[in-house]
Amino acid sequence: MAEKITMAHGSGGKSTDELIDTIFAKEFDNPVLDAMEDSAVVPVTGKIALTTDSFVVTPLKFRGGDIGRLCVCGTVNDLLMRGAVPAWLTCGFILEEGLDIGLLKELTASMAATAKEAGIRIAAGDTKVVEGHGGMYINTAGVGIFPEETSGVTAGICASGAREGDAILVSGTMGDHHAAILSERMEIETDIESDNAPLVDMVRNLLKSGLHIHTMRDVTRGGLATVLRELAKASGKTFTIRESAVPVNPKVKSFAGLLGLDPVYMGNEGKMAVILPESEAQEALQIIRKSRYGSGAAIIGRVTADKPGELLMETDIGGLRRLDVLQGEGLPRIC
Ligand code: MG
Repeated sequence: MAEKITMAHGSGGKSTDELIDTIFAKEFDNPVLDAMEDSAVVPVTGKIALTTDSFVVTPLKFRGGDIGRLCVCGTVNDLLMRGAVPAWLTCGFILEEGLDIGLLKELTASMAATAKEAGIRIAAGDTKVVEGHGGMYINTAGVGIFPEETSGVTAGICASGAREGDAILVSGTMGDHHAAILSERMEIETDIESDNAPLVDMVRNLLKSGLHIHTMRDVTRGGLATVLRELAKASGKTFTIRESAVPVNPKVKSFAGLLGLDPVYMGNEGKMAVILPESEAQEALQIIRKSRYGSGAAIIGRVTADKPGELLMETDIGGLRRLDVLQGEGLPRIC
């Protein structure tokens, strides 16, 4: 096989077969995929959660992760946020001519390892080749199921679920993925790593606990402020957070300071916000802290009803700042 992707790899002929056999089928191997039918048939009962996402991140590999790991985490986390258990994943690869085949193998192996970690299986896939400069994109779809045991808990979890008297928690430090990607692109030397991670263990432990979770949301593009402002709007409640309580890795803080960025607007790929009654906040905090990827969790704020739809932040210098969703472009191609 040639070392670079050529248009022939997208022809549907011999080179395509070779690519599928030696990379995708080999890494993603499972009985549903191996059947190689026109569509995958999977068993489900009851409701399913369905999500889709496209991954265009650049660079393809970054400190702490890569597009293969990222595409699984992004899809899995969106399923988890409704309380679904990730079950099936599909992936469409759009490869640019000139992509290094060794790199494609590495990224596919990373994707397979992350899927294994998250307990999701790849049911179907597609490959296309386009003219370009050796880049690649991945589009995914994810299917999640709702097991009988947790159906009572998951039924009410939604974006508009926050109530007066709730606490707002985050599962760890803010802005890591954004800082990792940006520093790579700007060639700024740092050891900040992306936090891209599947939050399966954390969500499973929270759902099992029987706590009354009102909202779960992964903190991605646009960062914490964008996510919380959207949730405040959706619920018609007031969210107030304390700047001093929002966890930020000191390295990310100084990186952000250097560039004039605000960590509450910097995206993550392995963190979530959880909203539930204040009386249950300490227990939730302990559960998240004991879960994988949750050691840095914190209670950062509370929900009231005085200013419907607003997000406020008590700043380190004692002021009260009104936060809106991220304005303008943000960082392109972060995920
Ligand atoms: Mg999401």
